[in-house]
Amino acid sequence: MGIYQSINSALIHGGISMDERTGAVNIPIYQTSTFKQDGLGMMRGYEYSRTGNPTREALEALIAELEGGKAGFAFASGLAAITAVLSLLHQGDRVLISSNVYGGTFRLLNQVFDHFGISFTVSDTGDPARFEQDITADVKAVMIESPANPLMTITDIRQISEISHRHGLLVIVDNTFMTPYLQRPLPLGADVVVHSATKYLGGHSDVVAGLAVVNSDELAKQLAFIQNASGGVLGPFDSFLLIRGIKTLSVRLDRHTENAEKAAEFLKNHAAVKRIYYPGLKTHPGYETHRSQARNGGAMISFELHRQFDIRVFFESLKLITLAESLGGVESLVCHPATMTHAAIPKEIRDKVGITDGLIRLSVGIEDIDDILSDLSQAIEKSEVH
Ligand SMILES: *Cc1c(COP(=O)(O)O)cnc(C)c1O
Repeated sequence: MGIYQSINSALIHGGISMDERTGAVNIPIYQTSTFKQDGLGMMRGYEYSRTGNPTREALEALIAELEGGKAGFAFASGLAAITAVLSLLHQGDRVLISSNVYGGTFRLLNQVFDHFGISFTVSDTGDPARFEQDITADVKAVMIESPANPLMTITDIRQISEISHRHGLLVIVDNTFMTPYLQRPLPLGADVVVHSATKYLGGHSDVVAGLAVVNSDELAKQLAFIQNASGGVLGPFDSFLLIRGIKTLSVRLDRHTENAEKAAEFLKNHAAVKRIYYPGLKTHPGYETHRSQARNGGAMISFELHRQFDIRVFFESLKLITLAESLGGVESLVCHPATMTHAAIPKEIRDKVGITDGLIRLSVGIEDIDDILSDLSQAIEKSEVH
């Protein structure tokens, strides 16, 4: 980095941070589908907005810099980004996925890529020895989430990357839960990072978007081709919203995390809570590994209430915290993974990996922590069955 040392400054000044022509301190929204050519084959750097758009390009340069990669790509959703990245694979290839990978990623592989002869195996990426045993001759890639949603399972990104590269696999990390502010998978050894930018990067629950970053010129060439050929690109206005969201990522995440640490302490010590999953707790499995690769535990907490608490009543009793899909926005959100985010995963698999019907997932927002805690407290109290 040149004029700045820290990601705090890169969030604001990274990529293409100013409009060279006018000096506008924000990249304009280039709301255009096409660009004038001065003569046959005489382009001014852009020809058609699926192929390239200046607002999207500024975002792509920004995320590439933040993740420490060679090139970034912006898509219409996280799943569009994941679809494009998985399109690097060929018929007959197999991909290994972490056991509690995002439900939509599972569905995409299980019900779409499956049609094209690309198969997958659910692997315990938290256990490197067992993971290595799952690498059969047809395995060409591994898709990791760490912490993996919703049980916050930790994978050692360095170790899995090292093993995977020995077998020639492409290492893809979904970094949605951490963002480059808390964890940077490429310097740890991964080849590709994907994001649902809908979550923390956007940060305000007002845009659906996806990003991918690659660590080599060859992958950049291939993914640029796929992005243009398959066309799931992010529009100029949404690109602008993401750039705007990313500027405040570090201040938002500092508050998110501060609140989450207090919420985790509160839930851990609450008599109604049977189990808690939060990577910021020393008792969390993989805590040391997580600390070695991430700044802190982030702001996602899952927990289970004891049987004598009715989770239906719990959800209905919340007043400040909103029951909704998604996460990572400034407002606290809560969800029921078994029927919401992870409903696409068959019940046998859900039960096997621990995504039980009693599991609650909390995305801790940046409201006043006392308001968050009193809302949790009153909803738990109301949900007790007498
Ligand atoms: C939400 C999410 C996705 C999917 O992203 P969309 O923007 O909803 O398409 C992928 N991975 C993780 C970890 C997510 O939380």
